Amino acid sequence: MEFDVVIVGGGPAGLCTAIHLAQSVERHNAEVERTGAGEKLSPEICLIEKAAEIGAHSISGAVLDPKALDALLPEWRTMQPKAPVEAEVHEDYALWLTEKGGMKFPITPPPLRNHGNFVVSLNKLVRWLGEIAEQKGIQIFPGFPGAVLQRDGDKVTGVQLADSGLDKNGEKKGNYEPGGILAAKLVVLAEGSRGSMTKQLVADLGLQGKNPQVYGIGVKEVWEVPKGQCPPGLVVHTMGYPLDSQTFGGGWVYGMGETEDGKNMVSVGLVVGLDYQDPTMDAHRQLQRMKLHPKVAPFLRGGKLLNYGAKSLPEGGLYSMPRHHGDGFVIVGDSAGLMNSMRLKGIHLAMRSGMLAAEAALACLRSGDFSAKGTAHYAEALQKDWVHDELWKCRNFHQGFHKGRLAGLVNAGFAQLFGGKGTLWSDELKSNAGHTYMKKVVDYFGGKGKPEVEKLPEDGTLTFDKLTSVYSSGTMHEEDQPCHLVVTEPDLCSTRCVEEFGNPCQHFCPAAVYEMEEKPGRKHGVDLKINASNCVHCKTCDIMDPYQVINWVTPEGGGGPNYQNL
Ligand SMILES: Cc1cc2nc3c(=O)[nH]c(=O)nc-3n(C[C@H](O)[C@H](O)[C@H](O)COP(=O)(O)OP(=O)(O)OC[C@H]3O[C@@H](n4cnc5c(N)ncnc54)[C@H](O)[C@@H]3O)c2cc1C
Repeated sequence: MEFDVVIVGGGPAGLCTAIHLAQSVERHNAEVERTGAGEKLSPEICLIEKAAEIGAHSISGAVLDPKALDALLPEWRTMQPKAPVEAEVHEDYALWLTEKGGMKFPITPPPLRNHGNFVVSLNKLVRWLGEIAEQKGIQIFPGFPGAVLQRDGDKVTGVQLADSGLDKNGEKKGNYEPGGILAAKLVVLAEGSRGSMTKQLVADLGLQGKNPQVYGIGVKEVWEVPKGQCPPGLVVHTMGYPLDSQTFGGGWVYGMGETEDGKNMVSVGLVVGLDYQDPTMDAHRQLQRMKLHPKVAPFLRGGKLLNYGAKSLPEGGLYSMPRHHGDGFVIVGDSAGLMNSMRLKGIHLAMRSGMLAAEAALACLRSGDFSAKGTAHYAEALQKDWVHDELWKCRNFHQGFHKGRLAGLVNAGFAQLFGGKGTLWSDELKSNAGHTYMKKVVDYFGGKGKPEVEKLPEDGTLTFDKLTSVYSSGTMHEEDQPCHLVVTEPDLCSTRCVEEFGNPCQHFCPAAVYEMEEKPGRKHGVDLKINASNCVHCKTCDIMDPYQVINWVTPEGGGGPNYQNL
């Protein structure tokens, strides 16, 4: 199938590219009609999404800065169908948590101030954007993962979709369908954090910026709680416990609105930097510990877990961005590393980058030039935009924490004080890929070895094991298909990794995908078992494996989580 523009990924970045491209073409054609100069355009535009439905793989905190939405759809507050906003933020504060107690910050740090912003559910917002894109004539194909980029040298020429109907050995079943090829003059990569095709392209063309990207993993639950316990529009951020001083991250409790059947919802979650040292770090477990904390538990008491999800997010900032344009392609949103980790916000940056990519796409359509020179319009526009200004002000935020929590906080305060003009250390703090910070068991725990994992109190009411959580994410995959978590050196897992890192995949995966099962005859009596059907597509394994031997590739279309309210 031939298209002018193929957009890969139906998150905020991809959908805003689609909507704004349709708007821009409408404006262009109206101008041609009015002036009689130039030619009208009628480009073929499609968007592919690996989830069965638009929004089913979307998860975020999510407090929305409406800046980009105001520019995209200035009338969004009064539009029908209504924009799915849960609540306007009316109160926000930050908590410093110690193991048993904590205190409110006397003033809310400026990056965490949210008055004027909105608590949303990203999957509802994305579904709404998807409907608007469809109304504007964009062809949307959910359930179609892009597997491999088609290339002619450095030029991207299209997308090959994933095959379906292969069994676990890769043999064709009765329902086999080969993945079709979508030829495109321009491919917009909007795959989100650690996009699988984007990762390959960045590596093949050497696009990575000054620093490698570093990520965080966000784990989140939505609860139904008694009314009044956490009012809609209350935004609370936490720092400190349950993370130690060497681990980047923080938590939140946001008061949401009501479900359609009147359930009062609260979002609670934790982000952990994927550049931690502890080989047993388990973000899912840390969230369970956080919920037991006396300052957090009261928000949830008497409530019920509704939904769970997890996803990675790019944390490296400006200096970790890849070159985001080239011959036949542009990269937008989280795939381009456009996340402000100081504010824990990326939705508005993803949306805005999509709009700027759409404007560049229009320029390419008009000139017929889709080469790197043509797509450079996007990079130039991003450089001049508020997106760049915002990221420049926090350009060393995450790297600062590699010197410890206190140093990181002082650095962030310094940047705030001087509006980003000054930073504590060199202007461009260097960092390494996140997995390189993980320590071996013997270096982290000394001779004692890995500690036993203790059962948490209140299991089944306030805290949950991973399998219960995965159930609440609605995750499903066709079981009989090739494993989409490709371990390129499987022998490592039952040999060196047991000895050196104690198989950290069992801990860092927030969905119990990786398990070491007993296997007599193996060197250490264990072997790796991959429960691929539990995978929530967070990509943590691809990022954090200490030997970098796990490659996350797209499974058959439609598989994965079925997020609601997240
Ligand atoms: C836990 C957490 C909390 C956050 N909190 C906030 C917050 O409060 N406020 C805020 O502004 N931001 C927040 N963010 C960041 C924000 O969610 C992201 O910056 C934003 O969603 C990025 O949008 P995107 O469109 O680039 O990517 P995504 O939202 O990740 O969308 C990418 C889409 O592409 C699809 N896709 C991926 N690969 C393929 C493929 N090969 N083929 C087809 N489809 C594919 C995915 O299924 C997905 O639907 C948070 C992030 C996390 C993880």
